[in-house]
Amino acid sequence: MVLTLFRNVRVIDGEGGEPFSGEVLVEGNRIRTVSRAESPIAAPGGARVVDGGGRTLMPGLVEAHAHISFCNTPDLESLGDIPPEEHTLLSMKFARVMLDQGFTSIFSAAAAKARLDIVIRNAINAGDIPGPRMRAASPEMTPTSGLGDVRRWHINRETFAIVCDGEETFRRTAREMVREGVDTLKINPSGDEFIPFARAHETVMNEREVAAVCEVARSRSKMVAAHARSAESVKMSLRQGVQVLYHCTLSDEEALDMLEAKKDEIFVAPTLGMAHVTGQGEGKAYGVDYDHPVANFFRLESIKGIANMKELKRRGVRVLPGGDYGFAWNPIGTNARDMEHFVKLLDYTPLEAITAATKFGGELMGFDVGLVKEGMLADLLLVDGDPSKDVSILQDKDRLAGIMKDGTFWKEPSGDAVAGAVAAE
Ligand SMILES: [Zn+2]
Repeated sequence: MVLTLFRNVRVIDGEGGEPFSGEVLVEGNRIRTVSRAESPIAAPGGARVVDGGGRTLMPGLVEAHAHISFCNTPDLESLGDIPPEEHTLLSMKFARVMLDQGFTSIFSAAAAKARLDIVIRNAINAGDIPGPRMRAASPEMTPTSGLGDVRRWHINRETFAIVCDGEETFRRTAREMVREGVDTLKINPSGDEFIPFARAHETVMNEREVAAVCEVARSRSKMVAAHARSAESVKMSLRQGVQVLYHCTLSDEEALDMLEAKKDEIFVAPTLGMAHVTGQGEGKAYGVDYDHPVANFFRLESIKGIANMKELKRRGVRVLPGGDYGFAWNPIGTNARDMEHFVKLLDYTPLEAITAATKFGGELMGFDVGLVKEGMLADLLLVDGDPSKDVSILQDKDRLAGIMKDGTFWKEPSGDAVAGAVAAE
């Protein structure tokens, strides 16, 4: 069994406590021992000893709303134009980009074609291609005239979603996705401000349709994730057993109460990233400048959304970073910026933001990840600097001196103070 001993590191364990000087021993793919500096670990024979040089050792990051097959598109319509062969290669590339940026786990919030997430996840698990641990999602299941229905009356064009109408079609599509191998069924019960005919405050699926998908998920041990901006879409999703609620920005008091009542079963990801950069006019090069109506809307929506997220945090709901990275002006690879948004917009401390992205992320994934703790899987980052003081350094991949996934270095430790001596047998 391969043994790696990290010495001379400041440990952020993901539980939210202050970093401490310590040592961490990894055996195979699991963390065997976590120790404070006062009681050093005797290096077992044959162990590789990594001198962290005072760097930070922390859990690998978890993205709660990943879209590796959205390929940094400038618009949703063109996603359907990418042929499947190119699309598979692009998804493979972006899976690797996520791992390079320190994301050792990603929870997909929809694939742009039915089997993209599934084949990438399987190839990663088989060791054929590099990438994070992954929960594979279906495409967005949406009704005619919902978010994702990019067809036109006069053009029969491919869409990145699967358009379903009526509970029977939603049920059959959910079952087909189960057959193909998804972990998560994605539904779009609310609209989105980018869609002129399905606005964010509108609820576009009916309750029987949501119930049909949730019933399939329950009986097949899958999760359901919902695009839920409107208050009613949040309530409908909660009534029917959706576990992962994206956005929740327009929640009213009743929706907040319902979210709180299910706080141990659910996860909320507000997807601050896309809304924030759009609201600030960062899409200017793509025609969405500061004065664009959608930018105006997102600035307004975020006033309510930010207040709601602060309230959910106060009530103990797990709110996770994951900001819809996958678009031209909110590209894949910049996902760690969401933690900075949590600090700047939601008043999280850096450590709280890290806990949201690691501990809560691990609970979302359903794997033993997200904590530097004995017995957990060894997904670890060795970071140049102290993210507990400044979480923005996690956005700079040059500050990631080492990336370990499943006990193996994806990025070998580097830098002056990091050595790789092997302890004598
Ligand atoms: Zn999304």
